[in-house]
Amino acid sequence: MNILITGGAGFIGSHLCERLLTEKHKIFCLDNLFTGSKDNINHLENNPNFKFIEHDIIEPFFIDQDLDQVYNLACPASPIHYQENPVRTIKANTIGVINMLGLARKHNARILQASTSEVYGDPEIHPQPEDYRGNVNQIGPRACYDEGKRAAEALFFDYHRMHGMEIKVARIFNTYGSRMAFEDGRVVSNFILQSLKGENITIYGSGEQTRSFCYIDNLVDGLIKMMNSPKEITGPINLGNPNEFTIKHLAERVINLTGSKAKLVYKDLPQDDPQKRQPDINKAKEFLGWSPKIDLVEGLEKTIEDFKNRL
Ligand code: UDP
Repeated sequence: MNILITGGAGFIGSHLCERLLTEKHKIFCLDNLFTGSKDNINHLENNPNFKFIEHDIIEPFFIDQDLDQVYNLACPASPIHYQENPVRTIKANTIGVINMLGLARKHNARILQASTSEVYGDPEIHPQPEDYRGNVNQIGPRACYDEGKRAAEALFFDYHRMHGMEIKVARIFNTYGSRMAFEDGRVVSNFILQSLKGENITIYGSGEQTRSFCYIDNLVDGLIKMMNSPKEITGPINLGNPNEFTIKHLAERVINLTGSKAKLVYKDLPQDDPQKRQPDINKAKEFLGWSPKIDLVEGLEKTIEDFKNRL
């Protein structure tokens, strides 16, 4: 198949490109390299089935080759990056999404949207099922991303209803693994880097807030299963690991696994930082036959190894 992956030079995108190349597909990897990096895809560039195109989805995009599937992953995903130019973040999720839906429509291609657990905001229901409509502060600093992604979902379903397009909406929860950007400011990358360098581990707030982390390889399996599910399955479907723990617990685990002498230091909690998060993955189990397999310790060991090699 001919498959377009936007955000293909990013953390999740590059793993997805790699996996789909092993399945012998032809991959067109689109990225504006704002948070994505050529370092993530250098090892793929000699593969004749891989083509990188530097492009921002906010601008219209046309391609001569037929497309069978489009994975739309293009959007800065870490709070520091999506808040750097919030208007641009909203544009990627509205104008950019319209451009990609239009492209998929023209090619009669199936399209998958990388949505996010952020559509639930700071959730009042726990764990979060897909029919929970969320608790987002629409005027806060995270709104450019949260409301942007909510608008993207609305656009997907409008194109589906208006034009009968084959759509898939996957809501991705916190994901970690090799190739996470060092400067992303995410909790897993920060803690591993700080531990390896013997710096203080920065816990925002009390550290009692919770998250549930899914290892990248499992997430990629879920995305591919979702894309190739029967056409009636549009989603939204949550993809994530329901194993929930506090941020403090994560810090202790990382210190333990790296054998670091790093100390915990407490900093202010960012505004609108969700207190808890855990996916309800019953739909993913039922409709995709998917659930994550790699546990936290195994996933952290692999990630720490990758960070050590890159440092
Ligand atoms: N966090 C932290 N220290 C850090 C980076 C993040 O305590 O150095 C916290 C952050 O406040 C949040 C959680 O870890 O409660 C997850 O943050 P991340 O940015 O990785 O993901 P998100 O908030 O988007 O789930």
